Formats: sequence, C-alpha cells, structure tokens
Amino acid sequence: MGLHSDMIFDIVTIFPEFFQGPFGHGIIRRTREDGLIDIRIHDLRNYTTDKHRTVDDRPFGGGEGMVLKPEPLFAAVESVLSDQTLEKRAQTAIVLLSAQGKLLNHSVAQALAEQKRLVLLCGRYEGVDERVAEHLATLELSIGDYVLTGGELAAAVVVDAVTRLLPEALGHELSAVEESFSTHPEARITAGGILDCPHYTRPAEFRDWKVPETLVGGNHEDVRRWRRRQALAKTRRNRPDLLERAALTEEDRRLLEAADRD
Ligand code: SAM
Repeated sequence: MGLHSDMIFDIVTIFPEFFQGPFGHGIIRRTREDGLIDIRIHDLRNYTTDKHRTVDDRPFGGGEGMVLKPEPLFAAVESVLSDQTLEKRAQTAIVLLSAQGKLLNHSVAQALAEQKRLVLLCGRYEGVDERVAEHLATLELSIGDYVLTGGELAAAVVVDAVTRLLPEALGHELSAVEESFSTHPEARITAGGILDCPHYTRPAEFRDWKVPETLVGGNHEDVRRWRRRQALAKTRRNRPDLLERAALTEEDRRLLEAADRD
C-alpha cells in the first residue's frame, strides 16, 4: 500500500495508540483496505535523541504547562518525507493542528484533498514551539473555535473530511454532490454552498409526527422544490452567513418567501 494511494496521511503524535479506533470503520476503513488512502502513524518519541525520549520542555518567559520541542518534530517530518522528490514535495502539505490556525471548512478540505500527501502534526500540552508553525508547517489549521487537549482528534477530523472528498472514496459518484457546503456545479438542493435539506425515512408516521406529504407524493419536481425551500430556510435559520454569500436565483427568493408563510 502507499505507492499508488490517492492520498498518504502521515500523522505525527505522542499517542500513536489513539488512532486504533477512528480509522477502523465505514468509509475510512474501506478506502484504506482498497488502498485508496494510506494512513501512517509516527511516534514522535522515535525522533528524540536523549535517553528519556523527551518531547517537551518548559516555556521560555515562564508560565504554565509544557511546550512540544521543535527538534523531534523537524526530525520526524524530515525523516517521513526523506523519500520524496521535489515534484512530490510540491503536492505535500505539512499541517500543524492548532487552535490558532486557519479555520477548517469545506473549501480548505477540498484544497487539502487535491494534495497527494498530508503530514499532520499533533500538538499537546500548551502547544508547539512556534518555529514549527513558522518554518516547518505549510498550514496551521484549527477545526473550530474551542480548545482541545491535543491535536489527535483534530487530525482524525481532517483525515475523515478529506478522504470523503477523494474521487472514488464514496463509491457512488454523486454522493458528495448534494451535501451541505457543496459548491459542485451539479448540486441543485445545496447549490451555492448552503446547508443540506432535511431527510426522512420509514416509518411515514412516528409518534404522531408525519413525514412531509410532498416527499411521499412521488412528484419529482415538487420534491426538488420542497427540498430546496427547506435547505434555504434551514440555512437562513442556522447559518445566515452562508445564505448571505450564496448567489440566490429568483426561484430561491420565492421559495424563501413561501418558507416565511410555513
Ligand atoms: N495554548 C493553546 C492555545 O490556547 O491556542 C492550546 C493548546 S491545546 C491545549 C494542545 C494542542 O491541541 C494544540 O497544540 C493543538 O495541536 C491541539 N488543538 C487544540 N485545539 C485545537 C483546535 N481547535 N483545532 C486543532 N487543534 C487543536
């Protein structure tokens, strides 16, 4: 595996065992088994040079907590990428997971999915010596405006979000088209990068709550209009910022007005 994978993920961490769970299920498991992605976990302590395998030290200037030292992280990345030609290096991103990073969203995930290799550096404690962000990482990335105890969960999120954007990963070509945030030219319900519409399945009635009539009516055009209207209304309710950026058609405006009367 690896030589012909669409994407190689190299995760550098002080907790390699952490990743035994998150990548063993569903689509991520299948894409790994099919050789579409190759996930390699690297123990940061293997790149230390002292007998205690030290990865952290106290912060200059004083203060609480410990900081991950730069040397093992530089050594890890240089070793992991030592087999790379310059051409391949151009298709590699070195991502430092950090609460201070650029926010992960659909378009960032898409840009990452266009690479051939992602090296994901997981911080711990108070964080990582800033020289890693300045001189080693090509991207400092946050998965949201909150602070995690470590970069491992964030790295798993990146692997998951990027993998499902790889062509072939979902099996069905169009499955990633109609999804929240999708800017795919064939998207109809989520066109413009808005949220997905609500979904329902059997039973048609559950605890007195009925599935919307349009969905069981069988008229494809009515269903399309209903879904677009719901997607627009839900986006306005939960993520007005997305609706502001979306280029709305005349029909969209009418559907939103109709949603006001719901
Ligand atoms: N002192 C740092 C700050 O306030 O920005 C927080 C350090 S945090 C406790 C330890 C590690 O968790 C970070 O180095 C980073 O790798 C990871 N981490 C925490 N929050 C994150 C987030 N929102 N996105 C990505 N990684 C995060």
